[in-house]
Amino acid sequence: NEMVAAGWNFDNSYARLPQSFFTLHEPTPVRSPKLVIFNEQLATSLGLEIKALQSEDGVAVLAGNRIPEGAMPLAQAYAGHQFGHFTMLGDGRALLLGEHISPTGVRVDIQLKGAGKTPYSRGGDGRAALGPMLREYIISEAMHGLGIPTTRSLAVVTTGESVFRETELPGAILTRVASSHLRVGTFEYVSNFRTPDELRSLADYALQRHFPENSEVENRYLSLLQEVIKRQAALIAKWQLVGFVHGVMNTDNMTISGETIDYGPCAFMDTYDPATVFSSIDLQGRYAYGNQPHMAAWNLARFAEALLPILHDNPAQAVELAQEAVSDFAKQYHYYWLHGMRAKLGLFNEEKEDITLIKDLLNLMQKHRADYTNTFRALTFDETEDTALFRSQEFTQWREQWHNRLTRQPEPKSASHQLMRNNNPALIPRNHRVEEALEAAVNGDRSVMKKLLKALSNPFAHSPEQAHYCTLPPESSQPYRTYCGT
Ligand code: AMP
Ligand code: MG
Ligand code: MG
Repeated sequence: NEMVAAGWNFDNSYARLPQSFFTLHEPTPVRSPKLVIFNEQLATSLGLEIKALQSEDGVAVLAGNRIPEGAMPLAQAYAGHQFGHFTMLGDGRALLLGEHISPTGVRVDIQLKGAGKTPYSRGGDGRAALGPMLREYIISEAMHGLGIPTTRSLAVVTTGESVFRETELPGAILTRVASSHLRVGTFEYVSNFRTPDELRSLADYALQRHFPENSEVENRYLSLLQEVIKRQAALIAKWQLVGFVHGVMNTDNMTISGETIDYGPCAFMDTYDPATVFSSIDLQGRYAYGNQPHMAAWNLARFAEALLPILHDNPAQAVELAQEAVSDFAKQYHYYWLHGMRAKLGLFNEEKEDITLIKDLLNLMQKHRADYTNTFRALTFDETEDTALFRSQEFTQWREQWHNRLTRQPEPKSASHQLMRNNNPALIPRNHRVEEALEAAVNGDRSVMKKLLKALSNPFAHSPEQAHYCTLPPESSQPYRTYCGT
């Protein structure tokens, strides 16, 4: 049987949760599925058979035209705060096929994004366009290459049908792989609209799936809150350290697993500026680069609120526990960020003034409109760039201070260099390079995207072939803009 041949090994633990958490619902078949891109490495690591998945039957599964044996497609219910406003949501265009268990026992959600309308679609068409699905594929795989926790992309297929946005666009479906799709918004939904018993079921499920060692601790729901806060603090620090701007940090787009999810209007910052915003709809800069840690804390406060009914029998004590846990986020974030920044500057030991050294550099980068990635890359090789920053007197002074700082640690220069190589990527998915790859792919030439993906899979190689992807976009009068919901 071809399903066995593909290596699918489904379990459906989510479908065993209370029925109000989801709606069983099948994908809407599409006219003529065609594979556009397939992640062979990811497939292999999950114990899936490349040949079988790329066959007609295999692609039919990736298009939602055929349900593999053992799968139980469903749309998950969730709510969320979108730009600060609470609302009911749910999978409006995504369907969970089930959880695939890999030969090594790893459980991952297999989700089809763009698989048709669901009971949670509201006004939407349940579909996705090729460009944005390929964009999610590229950026999520780039994040993985950078060592940042993220949902992964297994494949993109075109549907042979059009979707209508501002214009007519080719339709596509992305197969998303995640350690789970549990969101802060999932907890908000159950907490606001369901019973405390159901909330306990959800919390126990999240513990079992992501923090099994905490299932037995005394206040396990408090430990769930603390663990999620810790993972998010680590995650957001990693975003900041590479200059990633998520763009739509609504609570439904924040995972319990600590993986980055929902690549809509995200983009990487070129010029260092905390006010960087790419999303065309984020007019207030709520989700600007410099605001991300703050918004993560805000989201985690919503998570803590959702857990209040089960944190403690005494409501006042529940609030106290929640506040204490949430206030820990800032400390933890700062710890991860500072640790990461020291590594980016080749520092092994700690000095109190390191913070000043780091902030001085960032301020100079901002003042001289320096490229974030390229500046750290140049420092890694102790090169001088022909830029306003490197020409400035202030920076020369800063550099001397940094050199002095490096000599105040026992590790040799070569060790610092290696530490910096491992922490300063040579390349990020630059917006103009992503756009050029997408344009070619949508017009039928996938070679540009494949080369880009290959380079992005090893951003710390610092090899000559990467130079093409390190160049800055041509000067433009218009800032780069991204759009969500396409
Ligand atoms: P997002 O801003 O991507 O987090 O999406 C917010 C909500 O809109 C989620 O519930 C999505 O499932 C839903 N949604 C986005 N695009 C569509 C679409 N084309 N059709 C139906 N629902 C959608
Ligand atoms: Mg979303
Ligand atoms: Mg989205």
